[in-house]
Amino acid sequence: MTATWTEPDTAASEISHEKALKIERETHKLEKRLCREVGRAIVDYNMIEEGDRVMVCMSGGKDSYGMLDILMKLQSRAPVKFTLVAVNLDQKQPGFPDHILPAYLKELGIEFHIETQDTYSIVKKNIPEGKTMCSLCSRLRRGILYRVARELKCNKLALGHHRDDMLQTFFLNMFFGGKLKGMPPKLVSDNGEFIVIRPLAYVAEKDLIRWAAHRQYPIIPCTLCGSQEHLQRKQVGEMLREWDKKYPGRLVTMFSALQNVVPTHLMDATLHDFKNIQTTGVPDADGDTAFDEEEFPEPARAAGTLPGIQVVTL
Ligand code: SF4
Repeated sequence: MTATWTEPDTAASEISHEKALKIERETHKLEKRLCREVGRAIVDYNMIEEGDRVMVCMSGGKDSYGMLDILMKLQSRAPVKFTLVAVNLDQKQPGFPDHILPAYLKELGIEFHIETQDTYSIVKKNIPEGKTMCSLCSRLRRGILYRVARELKCNKLALGHHRDDMLQTFFLNMFFGGKLKGMPPKLVSDNGEFIVIRPLAYVAEKDLIRWAAHRQYPIIPCTLCGSQEHLQRKQVGEMLREWDKKYPGRLVTMFSALQNVVPTHLMDATLHDFKNIQTTGVPDADGDTAFDEEEFPEPARAAGTLPGIQVVTL
């Protein structure tokens, strides 16, 4: 064989070796980032404490797989001792592959429970064709999961919502619900019995997508129930994805806004007693600056104008 034939092969194998190394480095960086962000959210909101028994709610989607994976990694090095119990609710949707999660969880060697309850038939029977089934379905699911958590003696419920879900909920509430309300990283359940935590609160969805592809999770499709994705949620999701593409950094800025709320500069009289405010005679940088224009740091300005909003300079 001549050098003419061997050289390109060597070059090609060098390139593919380089590529493989690059992918490995990037994946390692991604894993470190995921662990760091989940760890940071847990610490910032004191999500997990000594002795906690955390029920990890598994839907079979990429987010819940990622959450369990990262929580297990953190568990081995956390300064506190806690238990994880993975729970999946098989709602008997047509075509639900009920062997996938038990096989995966058994292989993982983690404590788990599969709860089988045919909520699908109940929802189908009670909701007229063409109407959205989600509110009844999720109400039934919530009740069942609370019961299971009680039976498994769990005090906390971990849900796989991520940063983008939280932003989406915030905008949905603002656009359609007339409320400045998001999705909390930690809150008491509506029945007052459990603490609900969202350890992926700081994690960007695109990182979870990449991580799921790397880990090759056996994803269970979320469309088995046949319910259409909520139109408003879909629209808001598309809006956020478009912003993220056109104006990198905007989602990060918006997310930090959720952690920097200034009630004096909003209009909710239950959060700030506007009626009875008095002058103090003491200068305060957070006071009203009257006619001054608000100044924004460079990255936010560089992010450009909002789609559909024309800025008119007078
Ligand atoms: S998408 Fe399907 S499974 Fe999910 S809440 Fe709606 S009806 Fe239930």
